[in-house]
Amino acid sequence: MAEIIQLLPDAIANQIAAGEVVQRPASVVKELLENSIDAGATYIQVIVKDGGKTLIQVIDNGCGMSPADARMSFERHATSKIREAADLFAIRTMGFRGEALASIGAVAQVEMKTRLYKDEIGTAIKVEGSKVIAQEPCSSPPGTSFSVKNLFYNVPARRQFLKSDTIEMRRLIEEFQRVAIANPDVGFSFFNNNTELYHLQSTNLRQRIVGLFGSTSNKKLVPVQESTDVIQVHGFVGSPAHAKKRRGEQYFFVNNRYIKSNYLNHAVISAYENLIPKENYPLYVIFIDIDPSRIDINVHPTKQEIKFDDERLVYHYLKVAVRHALGQHSMMPTIDFDLNPIISNSGHAQGNSRHAADADWKITTNDTFRPNQQLPEEEKVRNSHNLSNWKSLYEGLDADLPTQEVEQASLTIASSWDDSDNEADSKPPAEAKETSRLFQMHHTYIVSQIKSGFLVIDQQAAHERILFERYLKRMQSKEVSTQQKLFPKSITLTPADATLLQELLPAINSLGFDVQEFGQDSFVIHGIPTELVGLQNEEMIVEQLLEQLKLNLELKIDKTENIARSLAKSAAVKRKQKLEQEEMQELVDQLFACESPYKSPSGRNCFIAFELDELEKRFKQ
Ligand code: ADP
Ligand code: MG
Repeated sequence: MAEIIQLLPDAIANQIAAGEVVQRPASVVKELLENSIDAGATYIQVIVKDGGKTLIQVIDNGCGMSPADARMSFERHATSKIREAADLFAIRTMGFRGEALASIGAVAQVEMKTRLYKDEIGTAIKVEGSKVIAQEPCSSPPGTSFSVKNLFYNVPARRQFLKSDTIEMRRLIEEFQRVAIANPDVGFSFFNNNTELYHLQSTNLRQRIVGLFGSTSNKKLVPVQESTDVIQVHGFVGSPAHAKKRRGEQYFFVNNRYIKSNYLNHAVISAYENLIPKENYPLYVIFIDIDPSRIDINVHPTKQEIKFDDERLVYHYLKVAVRHALGQHSMMPTIDFDLNPIISNSGHAQGNSRHAADADWKITTNDTFRPNQQLPEEEKVRNSHNLSNWKSLYEGLDADLPTQEVEQASLTIASSWDDSDNEADSKPPAEAKETSRLFQMHHTYIVSQIKSGFLVIDQQAAHERILFERYLKRMQSKEVSTQQKLFPKSITLTPADATLLQELLPAINSLGFDVQEFGQDSFVIHGIPTELVGLQNEEMIVEQLLEQLKLNLELKIDKTENIARSLAKSAAVKRKQKLEQEEMQELVDQLFACESPYKSPSGRNCFIAFELDELEKRFKQ
């Protein structure tokens, strides 16, 4: 029997491959722009007509190609970017598959002009339907220019599937924006039907985002910057106040490559928990830099999907980085981050200085604070890490006070508080400095000076937040300590309350209570959590807890959360309660060691930040 298997002719094989790489005009723009970036271009011009269906031109000042390479570049699997399989795990270029030009050349009429810097004359090549129809020397500036005409002219079925010019144009702009954001140091101009839509100078990331999304975006940008040896995260996230109902400006770049990832998106959104309403989406432009051997970008021909060797680590790190950024932001709403030394520049991630600095910073836990249970060791360590993130707000505070201005305005906020603290002298310097910044107002609010102004902390809301997080952790970890009563107390409840308590007993006892049923709506309290000892009498504590639980029942929150909330509410320090310096300090430290220090469990703000600038303005009015 005659053999029936044949190799496909190149033109057909290329057309098939093109189906994956070139789906629409936007894909052509993406591939050509990426090639220009790989070629080291510092200025790239894009010209499109009719949503890219008639013409797409990309002109760069990159390295250019020799006549032989120019011809070779249209072959399938022809690339200058990798040589062997091992290179696949060290990819730093955008391209590496050697498919784009072959694919574009298979489904459009392409003209390319290219010239190496060292050559005097360039090469012009025309390719149509995978055939080279002309190659000749030409005069050309150094660099490469592509003109791609009549996309899918030879594949009517696909041309038919293209959407309206407006829709194709929108997709094309999206691709352009992604490349422009990822390469702020490259200048771009973008013409659509002879109108210049974008003219972007080489700049930094913040300016590039503003250049693309308009000047109003500047205020919304909160810088993110974290790094370890393994992974670096930098970029910007939108301030919570500017989150929008619709998705839109959300970008991840891994090693400068735009990728789509629902998983990482979830990490960012969850960092906004309690800060933005559900179904709102913040802007973000986040760059993740990671050793290329830890990722696989060769999952799909368009390279917009990626596999990490440890996805959970990336998720976690991203979440922490964003949360940290938002935390700093909420303290300094109007500061110009680019000028602020607390947050290193908005450019690329460098080194891992912050983490090194963390290592030698310790928090002072003060166990006399009510309720005064010592934290388990592990919790302390975790807290100390989280807290150190906040510490930067206070860093260099004294050194940074603009003394001249203070004198001018006769403002001596800091020093008047310093004087009121007589104990400061006897303490080690670092601690004294921290303590001197706290002041209790109306026995209700704690005023804490930070670098850019001051915070007013609601002592009750803050303490509720602290206790809430602590109780939640306790219930999860089941690490509790109970103080057994020598003389157990009994309480009798209404039948309804008794049923409720009965139902919640296991959860309540997991917090360190030891309450047992005694029949006929009565209960015996054998013990209570150590940290509640001395706060109130045991019966009161249980009754208050129950009251609170009932109130929260309507909130439809889960049982554990309800108990943690209720107990936090009844155990927290209240308004109009005098606190000692040390207690205030402890409270502030613990608040900023919380995972989510902004709001009390019931949604009240724990603190408000006031800016010196604002204060200044008020005086000038
Ligand atoms: P890949 O980018 O995956 O290598 P392409 O088909 O996109 O594959 O390009 C093939 C080769 O052509 C590239 O490896 C590069 O050497 C060369 N090339 C393409 N575009 C340019 C350009 N704008 N400037 C210089 N060289 C280019
Ligand atoms: Mg390429």
